[in-house]
Order: sequence, then structure tokens, then C-alpha cells
Amino acid sequence: MIYAMYGKTGVQVSAVGFGGMRFDVGRSNEENAELLLYARDKGITYFDTAPSYCTDQSEDIFGIAFKQMADQRDRLYVTSKCMPTENDTYDSVRAGVEKSLRRIQVDYLDFYHVWCIRRFDQYEMAMRPGGQYESLLRLREEGLIRHVVISTHLSGPDVKRIVNNDEFAGILLGVNILNFQYRWHGVLAAHEAGWGTVAMNPLAGGLIPKNETIFSFLTETDETPTEAALRFSISCPQINVTLVGFTTKEHIDMACRVADKACLFTPADQERIKRYLTKNMDVLCTGCGYCADVCPKKIIVPSYMQFYNERLLSNKTDKEMIEHTRFHHDWVLLSDRTAEAYECVACGRCEQACTQHLPIIKRLEEIGRWEKKLIEEKTK
Ligand code: SF4
Ligand code: SF4
Repeated sequence: MIYAMYGKTGVQVSAVGFGGMRFDVGRSNEENAELLLYARDKGITYFDTAPSYCTDQSEDIFGIAFKQMADQRDRLYVTSKCMPTENDTYDSVRAGVEKSLRRIQVDYLDFYHVWCIRRFDQYEMAMRPGGQYESLLRLREEGLIRHVVISTHLSGPDVKRIVNNDEFAGILLGVNILNFQYRWHGVLAAHEAGWGTVAMNPLAGGLIPKNETIFSFLTETDETPTEAALRFSISCPQINVTLVGFTTKEHIDMACRVADKACLFTPADQERIKRYLTKNMDVLCTGCGYCADVCPKKIIVPSYMQFYNERLLSNKTDKEMIEHTRFHHDWVLLSDRTAEAYECVACGRCEQACTQHLPIIKRLEEIGRWEKKLIEEKTK
């Protein structure tokens, strides 16, 4: 295992973080808790959870493990989270933190996230006087949490705006080997400001392990594409911790094996991957971001096109894609959208800007149909 300083906190954390969002809930909480003990034995010291993960059982699973690891508490780091849209007064924020402490069975949390900032106004809500952020600072003074951090799905320029205000100790961002061209500005801004940087979603939501043949270009050696994707993030000097959602001990073994080698992706490797994404995967959006600011309707074209990649790679049915659209609307790539796909007026500016020459208008039409289905369901 390799270790890195978490920003300017003086805390040294493992480069692989235990992501507590992929437990097999068909197993007992005790069985799942064994994974944390196993990870600890492998040198992992950073453990990330949240209320609601894994049908709301993740914090309880962490609690079973942290009780057994109590004698090592000072060298293990645990996080949890809360959205400003849910808790935004001192009393409600305190109640949320206390609930996490009870469930995780610890006296303090090392890192606590202003969680899931998908739109800039949600950040502003967290920062309002007397709101979530100020409440968390009070709880830090009271010793319930050690560091106040933020988790966001905003794009690079908005991340930069937040970083410039210098209010947090660190940031959790969705960045990986497939989308780094589009997301990298946020990572660099945070790293250069001395914030801790944590990457989530290093395997593109499971897309890479499920499609290893398609993604074989990610590696030129005997490592698998999944290992290459993990190595990209784990070895990156600008990323302190890579969160991997573990379901089995084998998953932990793989991430630790990659971290043991931790061989850097050189700029030449990155250029090769960029070229390959551009030349050989010509039906896929590469996340280059060239179409980001051209839409007169303010449609977030890069996010919509990366979302559509999953349609191309996963062969999901229309019904599954409607569900998938709902999930992305609420949580992931499309959560910071400022207009819907069906609002496209087919002006063609994004297609002119597209480095991949993708049929964006046609794809948006298809996504727009799924979005309209969701609206119909809501109004029934
Ligand atoms: S074609 Fe549609 S998505 Fe593209 S820039 Fe025009 S309105 Fe926006
Ligand atoms: S320009 Fe094309 S490839 Fe690049 S982000 Fe936009 S849609 Fe994707």
C-alpha cells in the first residue's frame, strides 16, 4: 500500500479508500463487516460511508467493524456525509452527525462531507449564514468531527469557483480514466489549492470491468483494463485517495495489488489513451468537453453524451434506460443539468464542436423520449 498526505491536514491516508456503497446486502451485516477488517489488514486506513448507502445498512456495517478496530482508532480514518437539502440548521446537522457516530460506533468522524452538491445553488445553500457549513464548523470545535470536506458532481469551472473560496479541507470528485479530460480541471484546482483530493467512481460505475474487451486499449501490458483504470487513479499524484466500492475480498486484493505497484501513468500514457478514445472509439463520447459551452439552451451536452455511452456499451433496453435516466437525473451525471435533453432545438452547434463527430441531436432525441416518460409517470 502507498500512503499520501490528505491535503494540508497533516493526516496520512492510504491511497486506496474503502468505499462503503457496494456491499452485497444479501449477506449479513457481520459478514460484510469482515471486509473492513480484511481491508485494514491489507493496509487500507481510509473508510468512506454515508447514510442511505446499501439500503441504509452501510453505516451499521461500518459500526460492527469499527467496534472491533477500536484499539486502532487513531490510525484509521472514517467519513460520513449529509446533504444541505436535508439538514441545514445547527440542530438538524448535529442530529445527523450524532446518528452517524452512533451507527459507526465512534466518538468522532475524521472527515465529514457537505454531500452530493449537484448544482451551484446547493453549495450556496450549504454556505448560508447559520446553515450546514457553519454548523459543521461548530461541531468541529466541539470535537465531533475533525475535518469539513465537500463532495460534488459539478463540472471543473464550478469546482474551481468553490475551491477559490477556500472553505474546505478536501473534496470528493467523480473522476476516472475515461472522463479525466472533462473532469481534470476540478482535480487540479483542488490539488493546487492544497485541498485533499478523493476520487470516486474510478471504474466508471462498473462500465470498465463489465466491458474489458472493449476497454482493452487501456493497457499495453498483462494488467487488465480494470487494473489499469485503478492504477490511473491510485498512482496519480494529484489524487490522495481513490475510493473503491468493495463487495468481495478479491476486489480488495486487486486494488491493493495495484497500489503496491503504483506505477505512474506517464503523460505519454495519457496521450495514448486520449488518442485511442478519440480515434478508435468513434461512437463514444470521450468527455473532452469541447461542446461544453456552445448550447444556446444550456443543455449539458458532455454529460448527456457520457450518459449515452452506457446505452452503447451495455445494451440496456428502453425500460432499463428510463430507470437509468431517473438515477442519473437524481444522483449522477445529469444531476446538475440546467435544461432537459428534449429542449434541444437542433441548432447543430454542439455537433460542429464535437471532436468525435457524434450524432448528438439524434441521441438527445432518444434521451428526451426517456425523460418525457419519466414526466408522464410523475403526472399519473
Ligand atoms: S443542437 Fe441542441 S444540444 Fe446541440 S447546441 Fe443546439 S440546442 Fe444545444
Ligand atoms: S465534444 Fe463530443 S466527444 Fe467531446 S464531450 Fe462533447 S460530445 Fe463528447
